[in-house]
Amino acid sequence: RTAEEAIGRLVRDVPDFPEPGILFKDITPLLADHSGFGAVVSALADAGREGGEVVIDKVIGMEARGFILAAPVALALGVGFVPVRKAGKLPGETHAVGYALEYGEAVLEVHRDGITAGERVLVVDDVLATGGTARATAELVAACGGTVAAMAFLLELSFLPGRAAVGDSPLTVLSVI
Ligand code: 5GP
Repeated sequence: RTAEEAIGRLVRDVPDFPEPGILFKDITPLLADHSGFGAVVSALADAGREGGEVVIDKVIGMEARGFILAAPVALALGVGFVPVRKAGKLPGETHAVGYALEYGEAVLEVHRDGITAGERVLVVDDVLATGGTARATAELVAACGGTVAAMAFLLELSFLPGRAAVGDSPLTVLSVI
Protein backbone atom coordinates (compact mmCIF):
# COMPACT_ATOMS: atom_id res chain seq x y z
CA ARG A 1 0.00 0.00 0.00
CA THR A 2 2.74 2.47 0.98
CA ALA A 3 4.87 1.33 -1.95
CA GLU A 4 1.98 1.66 -4.38
CA GLU A 5 1.17 5.12 -3.05
CA ALA A 6 4.82 6.20 -3.41
CA ILE A 7 4.94 4.91 -6.99
CA GLY A 8 1.73 6.78 -7.86
CA ARG A 9 3.07 10.00 -6.37
CA LEU A 10 6.74 9.85 -7.40
CA VAL A 11 6.98 8.10 -10.80
CA ARG A 12 6.87 10.81 -13.46
CA ASP A 13 5.42 10.54 -16.97
CA VAL A 14 7.75 11.84 -19.68
CA PRO A 15 6.05 12.10 -23.09
CA ASP A 16 7.94 11.27 -26.28
CA PHE A 17 10.96 9.68 -24.57
CA PRO A 18 13.14 8.03 -25.79
CA GLU A 19 11.21 8.46 -29.05
CA PRO A 20 8.04 10.19 -30.25
CA GLY A 21 4.88 8.39 -29.15
CA ILE A 22 6.41 6.68 -26.07
CA LEU A 23 5.19 7.77 -22.62
CA PHE A 24 8.22 6.97 -20.45
CA LYS A 25 7.83 6.17 -16.75
CA ASP A 26 10.69 8.00 -15.01
CA ILE A 27 11.49 6.45 -11.63
CA THR A 28 14.23 8.92 -10.64
CA PRO A 29 11.96 11.08 -8.39
CA LEU A 30 11.01 7.88 -6.51
CA LEU A 31 14.68 6.91 -6.09
CA ALA A 32 15.45 10.40 -4.79
CA ASP A 33 12.86 10.05 -2.01
CA HIS A 34 14.31 8.07 0.91
CA SER A 35 11.02 6.76 2.28
CA GLY A 36 9.58 5.99 -1.18
CA PHE A 37 12.75 4.17 -2.25
CA GLY A 38 12.78 2.24 1.02
CA ALA A 39 9.11 1.29 0.69
CA VAL A 40 9.52 -0.13 -2.82
CA VAL A 41 12.72 -2.04 -1.97
CA SER A 42 10.99 -3.56 1.04
CA ALA A 43 7.91 -4.53 -1.01
CA LEU A 44 10.04 -6.05 -3.80
CA ALA A 45 12.02 -8.04 -1.22
CA ASP A 46 8.77 -9.64 -0.01
CA ALA A 47 8.72 -11.51 -3.35
CA GLY A 48 11.73 -13.48 -2.07
CA ARG A 49 10.01 -14.64 1.13
CA GLU A 50 7.34 -17.21 1.96
CA GLY A 51 5.81 -17.14 5.42
CA GLY A 52 8.54 -14.74 6.52
CA GLU A 53 11.36 -17.08 5.41
CA VAL A 54 13.80 -16.15 2.64
CA VAL A 55 13.29 -18.78 -0.09
CA ILE A 56 15.75 -17.60 -2.73
CA ASP A 57 19.52 -17.86 -3.13
CA LYS A 58 20.30 -14.91 -5.44
CA VAL A 59 18.74 -11.71 -6.78
CA ILE A 60 19.37 -10.92 -10.44
CA GLY A 61 18.93 -7.42 -11.87
CA MET A 62 19.05 -6.08 -15.40
CA GLU A 63 21.12 -3.16 -16.63
CA ALA A 64 20.63 -0.41 -15.81
CA ARG A 65 17.62 0.51 -13.66
CA GLY A 66 17.24 -3.08 -12.49
CA PHE A 67 20.64 -2.76 -10.76
CA ILE A 68 19.40 0.13 -8.64
CA LEU A 69 16.49 -1.91 -7.27
CA ALA A 70 17.88 -5.46 -7.26
CA ALA A 71 21.05 -4.69 -5.30
CA PRO A 72 19.29 -3.30 -2.19
CA VAL A 73 16.67 -6.08 -2.46
CA ALA A 74 19.51 -8.64 -2.30
CA LEU A 75 20.97 -6.95 0.79
CA ALA A 76 17.53 -6.81 2.42
CA LEU A 77 17.12 -10.56 1.89
CA GLY A 78 20.66 -11.43 2.96
CA VAL A 79 21.60 -12.98 -0.39
CA GLY A 80 23.97 -12.09 -3.23
CA PHE A 81 23.29 -9.89 -6.27
CA VAL A 82 24.04 -10.92 -9.88
CA PRO A 83 24.10 -8.39 -12.75
CA VAL A 84 22.67 -9.04 -16.23
CA ARG A 85 24.39 -6.75 -18.70
CA LYS A 86 24.28 -5.76 -22.33
CA ALA A 87 26.66 -7.61 -24.62
CA GLY A 88 30.37 -7.05 -24.13
CA LYS A 89 30.28 -5.46 -20.66
CA LEU A 90 31.01 -8.45 -18.42
CA PRO A 91 34.69 -9.44 -18.21
CA GLY A 92 34.35 -13.16 -17.43
CA GLU A 93 32.91 -16.19 -19.23
CA THR A 94 29.25 -15.54 -20.02
CA HIS A 95 26.03 -17.04 -21.22
CA ALA A 96 24.34 -14.82 -23.82
CA VAL A 97 20.74 -14.60 -24.99
CA GLY A 98 19.40 -12.55 -27.90
CA TYR A 99 15.96 -10.98 -27.72
CA ALA A 100 13.80 -8.85 -29.99
CA LEU A 101 13.50 -5.11 -29.49
CA GLU A 102 10.94 -2.92 -31.24
CA TYR A 103 13.60 -2.28 -33.89
CA GLY A 104 16.24 -4.96 -34.18
CA GLU A 105 17.68 -7.25 -31.54
CA ALA A 106 19.78 -6.98 -28.43
CA VAL A 107 21.89 -9.41 -26.43
CA LEU A 108 22.00 -9.80 -22.65
CA GLU A 109 24.72 -11.66 -20.77
CA VAL A 110 25.36 -13.11 -17.34
CA HIS A 111 28.56 -14.54 -15.87
CA ARG A 112 28.48 -18.33 -16.06
CA ASP A 113 29.58 -18.57 -12.44
CA GLY A 114 27.15 -15.86 -11.23
CA ILE A 115 24.52 -18.49 -10.49
CA THR A 116 25.29 -22.02 -9.34
CA ALA A 117 23.26 -24.95 -10.67
CA GLY A 118 20.20 -25.51 -8.49
CA GLU A 119 20.01 -21.97 -7.09
CA ARG A 120 16.63 -20.26 -6.77
CA VAL A 121 16.70 -16.78 -8.26
CA LEU A 122 14.52 -13.68 -7.80
CA VAL A 123 14.45 -11.47 -10.95
CA VAL A 124 13.99 -7.73 -10.21
CA ASP A 125 13.48 -4.85 -12.66
CA ASP A 126 11.70 -1.51 -12.71
CA VAL A 127 9.19 -1.90 -15.53
CA LEU A 128 7.53 -4.95 -17.13
CA ALA A 129 6.63 -3.78 -20.65
CA THR A 130 6.72 -6.35 -23.49
CA GLY A 131 8.43 -8.85 -21.18
CA GLY A 132 11.32 -9.40 -23.61
CA THR A 133 13.98 -8.34 -21.11
CA ALA A 134 12.54 -10.48 -18.32
CA ARG A 135 12.15 -13.52 -20.57
CA ALA A 136 15.75 -13.22 -21.80
CA THR A 137 16.89 -12.96 -18.17
CA ALA A 138 14.93 -16.10 -17.27
CA GLU A 139 16.70 -17.89 -20.13
CA LEU A 140 20.07 -16.78 -18.71
CA VAL A 141 19.13 -18.15 -15.28
CA ALA A 142 18.18 -21.45 -16.92
CA ALA A 143 21.44 -21.50 -18.92
CA CYS A 144 23.33 -21.37 -15.57
CA GLY A 145 21.24 -24.27 -14.27
CA GLY A 146 19.25 -22.07 -11.88
CA THR A 147 15.51 -21.71 -11.39
CA VAL A 148 13.50 -18.49 -11.52
CA ALA A 149 11.68 -18.67 -8.19
CA ALA A 150 9.89 -15.33 -8.67
CA MET A 151 9.93 -12.05 -10.57
CA ALA A 152 9.22 -8.61 -9.09
CA PHE A 153 8.68 -5.25 -10.80
CA LEU A 154 7.73 -1.75 -9.71
CA LEU A 155 5.37 -1.21 -12.60
CA GLU A 156 3.50 -3.37 -15.09
CA LEU A 157 2.33 -1.71 -18.31
CA SER A 158 -0.81 -3.82 -18.70
CA PHE A 159 -1.52 -2.63 -22.26
CA LEU A 160 1.56 -4.63 -23.30
CA PRO A 161 1.81 -8.45 -23.21
CA GLY A 162 4.61 -8.69 -20.63
CA ARG A 163 2.72 -10.89 -18.19
CA ALA A 164 2.08 -13.50 -20.87
CA ALA A 165 5.70 -13.36 -22.04
CA VAL A 166 7.35 -14.12 -18.71
CA GLY A 167 5.89 -17.59 -18.26
CA ASP A 168 4.52 -19.08 -15.08
CA SER A 169 6.96 -18.05 -12.35
CA PRO A 170 5.22 -16.14 -9.52
CA LEU A 171 4.95 -12.48 -10.51
CA THR A 172 4.85 -9.52 -8.10
CA VAL A 173 4.06 -6.06 -9.48
CA LEU A 174 3.75 -3.18 -7.04
CA SER A 175 1.64 -1.04 -9.37
CA VAL A 176 -0.26 -1.63 -12.63
CA ILE A 177 -0.88 0.94 -15.34
P1 5GP B 1 10.43 -4.98 -21.99
O1 5GP B 1 11.62 -5.81 -22.30
O2 5GP B 1 9.51 -5.62 -20.96
O3 5GP B 1 9.69 -4.51 -23.20
O4 5GP B 1 10.95 -3.62 -21.37
C1 5GP B 1 11.36 -3.58 -20.09
C2 5GP B 1 12.71 -2.95 -19.99
O5 5GP B 1 12.73 -1.68 -20.61
C3 5GP B 1 13.06 -2.75 -18.54
O6 5GP B 1 14.42 -3.12 -18.34
C4 5GP B 1 12.82 -1.29 -18.29
O7 5GP B 1 13.86 -0.73 -17.54
C5 5GP B 1 12.77 -0.65 -19.67
N1 5GP B 1 11.56 0.18 -19.86
C6 5GP B 1 10.62 0.05 -20.83
N2 5GP B 1 9.70 1.03 -20.74
C7 5GP B 1 10.05 1.77 -19.69
C8 5GP B 1 9.49 2.93 -19.06
O8 5GP B 1 8.47 3.51 -19.46
N3 5GP B 1 10.13 3.41 -17.96
C9 5GP B 1 11.24 2.82 -17.47
N4 5GP B 1 11.82 3.34 -16.37
N5 5GP B 1 11.81 1.75 -18.05
C10 5GP B 1 11.23 1.23 -19.13
